[in-house]
Amino acid sequence: MTSQIPSINIDPAPRTNPRFIGARRSLLPAREWITAQGPLGAALAIVGLTGMLIMRFGQIEIDPAVSPAILDTATWDAERAWRTICSVGEPYWCSARQALTSGCALPAHESCTVFRGSYARHGQSVFFLVQLPDSQCVFVEIAAECGSNCLGKPLQMVCIGGVIILAMYGADSITIGRYVSCLRPDKGPTAMGGVPRLGIGSRMTTAVWPGVWRAMDRCGFCANAIQNSVRELNLLVDVLAARPARNNYLYGFGALEEGHTGSTFEGLWVAGVIEALKTDTHPKYGADADHITVRRGPDGINRAKSVIDAARNYTFFTLDVSDIVDYGAEACFSADARGLVHKYSQALDVVDELSTHINRLKGDVAFDLELSIDECPGDVDAFACLTTEIELTFLALELRRRGIGITHIAPNVGIVKGQDYAGLGVLPRLENRIKGLCDAASEHGVMLDFHSGDDLRSDVRQVIGRATKGWNHFKLSPSLQIIFAEALYDLHPERFEVWWHDTLEYARREASAGSEFAAQCLRLYEDGGDRAPSPRHTVFHHYCFASVGKRDANGQFVHRERFYDLPVGFYREYHDRIELFLCEVAQDVLCDAGGLG
Ligand SMILES: [Zn+2]
Repeated sequence: MTSQIPSINIDPAPRTNPRFIGARRSLLPAREWITAQGPLGAALAIVGLTGMLIMRFGQIEIDPAVSPAILDTATWDAERAWRTICSVGEPYWCSARQALTSGCALPAHESCTVFRGSYARHGQSVFFLVQLPDSQCVFVEIAAECGSNCLGKPLQMVCIGGVIILAMYGADSITIGRYVSCLRPDKGPTAMGGVPRLGIGSRMTTAVWPGVWRAMDRCGFCANAIQNSVRELNLLVDVLAARPARNNYLYGFGALEEGHTGSTFEGLWVAGVIEALKTDTHPKYGADADHITVRRGPDGINRAKSVIDAARNYTFFTLDVSDIVDYGAEACFSADARGLVHKYSQALDVVDELSTHINRLKGDVAFDLELSIDECPGDVDAFACLTTEIELTFLALELRRRGIGITHIAPNVGIVKGQDYAGLGVLPRLENRIKGLCDAASEHGVMLDFHSGDDLRSDVRQVIGRATKGWNHFKLSPSLQIIFAEALYDLHPERFEVWWHDTLEYARREASAGSEFAAQCLRLYEDGGDRAPSPRHTVFHHYCFASVGKRDANGQFVHRERFYDLPVGFYREYHDRIELFLCEVAQDVLCDAGGLG
C-alpha cells in the first residue's frame, strides 16, 4: 500500500521557537527530533523483544507505549508513523473525513484510531488526532489545495485524489499547544479563576483520565485534571540524563524520592491534553503544577524556576513557601500587621519573584496562581501553622499591594489525615473556622484551596462544602492511586503482589533507618491477624506510592511499565471506580455552588 502513495519530503523552515532554530524538522527520526528539543544527549531508537520501539537516551531506555507521560511528545518515531499513515490508504482517509464533516459514525480501521473528539475545521482543512497501533499519536490534516498553516509545517504530506492533501504533524508539546490554542480552544487546559473545582492528581496518567472525563461529564463539575506536585514529578531533562532523584526527608515519615510517579512535568501535560482531545466529552479543565516548593537556601528559588520552566504550559501554579515563612518569629501568633509582615516578608518576596517569572513565561496567557501555606515544616509546632482570618486578609491585601495576581490560597485549617472528626466532636468548630476563612478570602476575590482531601471521610468533605457554599478548590491525589491498587488486587492479584513486596521493602528500610511511623505501620501489619498482601493494610496505604516511578542506580525505571500493560478490561474497571469516587467527592464539596450539572 505504501508504494501507491508517493511520499513528498518537505523541508520546512525552522520554527520560530528558539529551541528549534537550526533544527531540521523534515521527517526527523524521533531521536534527533527529541535531541533538538533540549540538551538531552544522543537518543537511539531500538526495537525491543516485544517488537515495540524503545527509546534509548544514554544509559536509560524508555518504551513510551507502556511508560507514558515522560517524553514531551506522543510521536517518537515519525518515520514509522508516516509509514502507517500511508499504509492505511486513501479510501479510508476520505471516508473518515466524510464521516467527521457529516457527523456520521467513523469507519473502523485496524491500523489507526481516529478521535472524533479532536475534530476541527479551519478554512478548507479538516484536522484530527490519530492513534497508531504502536501507541504513537499524530495529527492529520486533510486539506483542499494549499491547506492551513495553523499547526506550522507538517512533518510529511502527500497528494491524495488530485487536489486533496494529506498531511501529518507530530503530537509534540509545541504542536499540541497550537492545536488547542488555534483549532480547539475548548479542548485545552485553561485558567478558570474563581470557578469551583476538584484538583485531581494524575499519578496514574493515561490509566486514569478516561475515568476522570466520564465523572466530569456525568456529574458536571470542573477540575484541574492534570495535576501533580514536585514530589510526584520529574523534570524531563533529569530523567533523560539519568540523574538520581532528589531525596527529601519527610519528618517522621522517612526518606522520600522526588518524582515518584515517574512522569515529568512536560510529559504529563502532553499526555493529559492528548487524552482530552481523545474524549468525546467536553471537560472544562486546567493543569496544575502543584506544590512548587521553595526551600530555604540559595538553590531553592533557582530550582523552583526550573520547575516553572518545565511547567510553562500549565494553567495553574501552586507556590509552596511554607519553608520560608518565619514561624520562629514571636510574631507568629500575633494579630498585628507588623508581626505578620515579619513572618511573611521573605516568603512574599519569593512569591513576588516567582510570579514575575511566570508572567514573563506566559506573556498574555492567563494563569491561576495559588499560595499554599497548608503544610507545616517538620520542626514547627502544628498549632503555630493554623491560618487565621487576619492572616489570610493580610496575605490577600499584601499580595494585591505588590501587584501579584493571586487567585487561590491554601490555608492550614487544621485538618489531619485519617482523623475521626465526628468522634472527637470537632466538626462544628472546623466548619466555623473554614467559614470565617472563606468569608475573609472571598471578600478579596480569593478562593480557598483544600489540599490532601484524599483521606477525608464524606462527613468532613461535606463540612468543607457547606462552610464554603461549594465555592472552593479541593485537591486529591493519592486516593486515585490507591483505587488503582484495589482494582489490581481484585483483578490481577499476582501483579499486585509485586507492588506489595516492593512497598514492604521500602517501609522496612525506612523503619530500620529510624522512621517511627514506618515501624508503627509495620507493627500494625505484623501483629494483626491478617498477613495476606492487601491494599487495605496501613503500611501499603502510606508507602505504596514509591514503586511506580522507582528508578535503579542507573536511572532506569524498575516497575513503571507493569502499571500500563494490563488488559483493557482492567482499565475499564478502574475507570468505573474512578467515576464513582469522583462523583461522590464532587457531590460533597461542590454541591452548594450549583456548579454540578
Ligand atoms: Zn498541600
